[in-house]
Amino acid sequence: MSTRALFRQDAYQTRCDATITAIDEQGIHLDQTVFYPLGGGQAGDAGTLTLADGTVLTIADTRKAQFEGATPDDAVHVPAPGQEETLAGLTPGDRVSAEIDWERRYRHMRLHTASHLMCAVLPYPVDGCSITTDYARLDFATVEPIEREFVEARLAELVGGSHAVETEWITDDEMAERPELVRTMSVKPPMGLGRVRLLRIQNVDLQPCGGTHVRNTGEIGRLRVAKVEKKSARTRRLVLEFV
Ligand SMILES: [Zn+2]
Repeated sequence: MSTRALFRQDAYQTRCDATITAIDEQGIHLDQTVFYPLGGGQAGDAGTLTLADGTVLTIADTRKAQFEGATPDDAVHVPAPGQEETLAGLTPGDRVSAEIDWERRYRHMRLHTASHLMCAVLPYPVDGCSITTDYARLDFATVEPIEREFVEARLAELVGGSHAVETEWITDDEMAERPELVRTMSVKPPMGLGRVRLLRIQNVDLQPCGGTHVRNTGEIGRLRVAKVEKKSARTRRLVLEFV
């Protein structure tokens, strides 16, 4: 029942043909997908599955599939409510055309890439992260004050610098030998597949990440720091929004 995670090869692919491998209480499982499942702080994708007869099934969310032996690539497509009749007509083996809500995903990609830039702006461990369509929320483990103007200016500089964003792969063993690459305390690197994906922002940042990113920081556009607050004695929370 394993899924080929096409979004890891090309985050800009918005559509693919696929075959339904299973339908259960979690949702619809496909042999391959462009839908990113909620993980690493990034929200799951929404979109549509179009059946061979033209019927359109609306997908409200994508989650990691839960079953014995599931890998981080195994995704399940969660249908929006009120489509019971269409769902009842589905059978494993049916072909579908899977298409993500690109506008929503592209906002995730821009904010997610910005959150990597934030790791270069603020050199503290990340103790929580949430990327949605409207904002990126990052918790930094630090007692140092964070200045909004400084963060906005430095971030704008890195966006304006149009740095290339690339993926690289290393083995699980190489990853285990380089713990300094891990910036996020709450998200473990996606290990267990034999190799780990690293995200490199040229001259800015390098860390393991399985999420979806833009190709160049220039695509992120203008962002503002909507909020800086003391979440706890040892954590500062920062919220980024599009201008
Ligand atoms: Zn990432």
